[in-house]
Amino acid sequence: MFFIDAHCHLDSKEYEENVEIFIERAFESGVRRFLTVGCDLETSRRAVMLACRFEWAGVFASVGVHPHEAVHYAQGLPDELLALAEEPRVVAIGEAGLDYYYDHSPRDVQNHVFAMQVDWALELQKPLMLHVRDAMDDVLVLLRSASELRDLPELIFHCYSGGFEYLDAVLALGASCSLAGPVTWKKNDSLRELSAQLPAERLLLETDCPWLTPAPFRGKLNEPSYVRYVYEVVAAARGCSLDALTRQVDENTDNLFGWGRVYV
Ligand SMILES: [Zn+2]
Repeated sequence: MFFIDAHCHLDSKEYEENVEIFIERAFESGVRRFLTVGCDLETSRRAVMLACRFEWAGVFASVGVHPHEAVHYAQGLPDELLALAEEPRVVAIGEAGLDYYYDHSPRDVQNHVFAMQVDWALELQKPLMLHVRDAMDDVLVLLRSASELRDLPELIFHCYSGGFEYLDAVLALGASCSLAGPVTWKKNDSLRELSAQLPAERLLLETDCPWLTPAPFRGKLNEPSYVRYVYEVVAAARGCSLDALTRQVDENTDNLFGWGRVYV
């Protein structure tokens, strides 16, 4: 069986010189696509370098500005970042969005930098990887007002945390939901229930490593090979086989990222 980690941070300092070991271990356990995600210029640069270095393993990159870093980009997206997005192994923009839980950047700046990236993703015809924390209302307002003027890019709510409350609105935008380690955590019955209710073609799975380690390893460093545990819990919740779920996610991610099917 083949797995896809639709959102990870291989550039993270937790891996550094050992990144090859983590990627090899994941590859050996069946992971065939990794989307390593940038959060600012420097991490986007590293994401692209890793995607080139580990092309053999199926590593691809996303480039963009996380809401935590938005404060440094209020004047606009730098030319180097814009150029990185045109690299052949870059298949998405982000992570971008709003984070009102930490509020590391002023909210008006977060909204401004998020709006720039909605336009950017649409212009490049690449999907936009969304990070949303305690800010679903404002994200929906911004996306709906953007959609009144023009099309929206394809949207992925990474580590979706809007619950059933926002699910209809998210699906109405044509968006996909990506689920991470929290779906495996004991207390999160409602997230497992949500994972069972999601339309099959809107479902993505990820580790968001090095954070959000899934259940059997909580407290340890997360890594892409652990994505299997996210798949296992979601397959059980949906009452489908692990094999069927891996094929569905393969189809869904190829439809979004155009990186080629793992199952042929
Ligand atoms: Zn992330």
